[in-house]
Amino acid sequence: MDSKSPSYDAIVIGAGFTGMYQLYMLRKMGLSVKGYDLAEDFGGNWYRNRYPGCRVDTESHVYCYAFSADILQEWSWSEQYASQPEVLRYLNFAVDKMDIREHYQFNTLIISAKYSDAQNLWFVELGDGSTQSCRFLFSATGPLSIPQMPSYDGVNSFLGEAYHSYFWPRDEAGSPTGKNIDFTGKRVGVVGTGATGVQIITEVAKSAGELFVFQRTPNWCAPLGNGPIDTKMMDGIKENYGEIIDFVKNTQSGMPHTFLDKSALEVSDEEREIILEKLYKEPGYGIWFGNFYDLFTNKEANILVSKFIEKKIRERVNDQQIADKLIPKNHGFGTKRVPLESGYYEVFNQNNVHLIDIHEDPIVKILPNGIRTGSRDHELDIIIYATGFDGITGALDKIEIVGKNGDSLKEVWADGPSTYLGLQVSGFPNFFTLVAAHNGAGFCNIPICGQMQVEWIDKMLRHMKQHSLEFVEPSVQAENEWTEEVYRLMEKTLLGQTDSWFMGINSNVAGKNKRRALVYVGGSVRYRETCEAIERDGYKGFLMR
Ligand code: NAP
Repeated sequence: MDSKSPSYDAIVIGAGFTGMYQLYMLRKMGLSVKGYDLAEDFGGNWYRNRYPGCRVDTESHVYCYAFSADILQEWSWSEQYASQPEVLRYLNFAVDKMDIREHYQFNTLIISAKYSDAQNLWFVELGDGSTQSCRFLFSATGPLSIPQMPSYDGVNSFLGEAYHSYFWPRDEAGSPTGKNIDFTGKRVGVVGTGATGVQIITEVAKSAGELFVFQRTPNWCAPLGNGPIDTKMMDGIKENYGEIIDFVKNTQSGMPHTFLDKSALEVSDEEREIILEKLYKEPGYGIWFGNFYDLFTNKEANILVSKFIEKKIRERVNDQQIADKLIPKNHGFGTKRVPLESGYYEVFNQNNVHLIDIHEDPIVKILPNGIRTGSRDHELDIIIYATGFDGITGALDKIEIVGKNGDSLKEVWADGPSTYLGLQVSGFPNFFTLVAAHNGAGFCNIPICGQMQVEWIDKMLRHMKQHSLEFVEPSVQAENEWTEEVYRLMEKTLLGQTDSWFMGINSNVAGKNKRRALVYVGGSVRYRETCEAIERDGYKGFLMR
């Protein structure tokens, strides 16, 4: 592998929404490309997450490949918020439209990626022991792809069925959709009440004999408002797709919601109530990204909105002691990812559902036949862990990524990531991190914001090609300034004061319990405009040769 000519011009790690598009664009530019993914097939998160109730919380029609009029016009969604099997079918349809199937190799673990300064090449070591080289390396490994299991005593001793949400078994036919496990009459325990747990709990409660919800921290949830999309609706969407896409590209979230131009503090109590009622009833994330503009930045405003959501929870849960436990006390509404739900709170009115507050009554041990909390043993047939991920940086930490000075990315980022635009790191030339730390896609509708990143990189690479440049890395100064900007923006919001995966708090990951700003909260528009200004300025902050 000493040759100056690499195996491929570019390697893309990851076959999810963004990686697939990146590979397509690189090939379109005329580069030789190879994609790898550890999974057996395309789909990224939508291949892996096939647990009961798994669906999008962004409007299906904008959870899409906006770049292709063909894809937009030829695909019809059946639900306003599509279920996992439908999203996966869509992604496979897009794979065929982009004609990228032949370029991917699956079941392939990436062990390491090491940069050779002498050759200006990356050497990528694969799980089978082989090494492939490339000029440009792209990680599209997903912000939530390294699942976390709790480290309770006896966690491997359970003799019933146990699943982590991310490793739900396939169905018998070998299809990548989830196995339809029959919960009828079974005693099921679910650990974790994030967006995943909320979807699973709502679904499992429909048939389980008894359902035990082990909740450590409650989340502020709001109604999803899903419904079918009929032919007439879909035709209307297709007719207006140009405007719709234009609109979402110009909202802060990449979703069809824009913040109100009012503060929650400047309206009367009556007006605030009317506005919040309307948002609560509307489908999707209007309640989060279409709320008062100071929801994220002003504590008093946030308290008013949180009080409203608290009232809704209390209205929906019969037993007020249970409602009390379901109402978050340590953070305000919207300062963590808001799980959108379809009847979640009503589940706790069912006689077969038991809420166990593990702050009050901690899990002590996993037993062969259930879960022991401080107060009693809960006998179970099935345990489902919806305990989240080593968010944002987890997947890159798993690969030994070594830059030009022999530094490992994991070590360089030991105290938190440092990046330029969230796309590059100094010392790691020609390496691009997509939908990763500090870039505009982590806190956004990923398909839309990920595409914008790919398209911006595409322009940069075309510029380099035109000028016969084959090396790009950020200056240390540009990287420091961007990283400071990420922290500065985060500190202005209430998100920065809340423990969540946005802030790098991964309660099950050793060493990751210190707040670090992992996502850029300046919004998609500001991010894009910054990138465009840098491009106009001759890619200011990037060193090219
Ligand atoms: P998560 O939000 O990190 O939630 C993990 C849950 O597990 C939390 O309730 C956490 O409690 C609990 N937990 C973790 N370790 C535990 C332990 N040792 N013992 C007891 N409880 C434990 O993870 P997630 O629910 O998988 O969601 C992650 C993200 O995926 C979401 O924020 C969202 O971005 C995405 N997602 C999206 C959708 C969608 O609709 N599109 C659906 C699902 C997920 P603490 O809060 O106390 O740590």
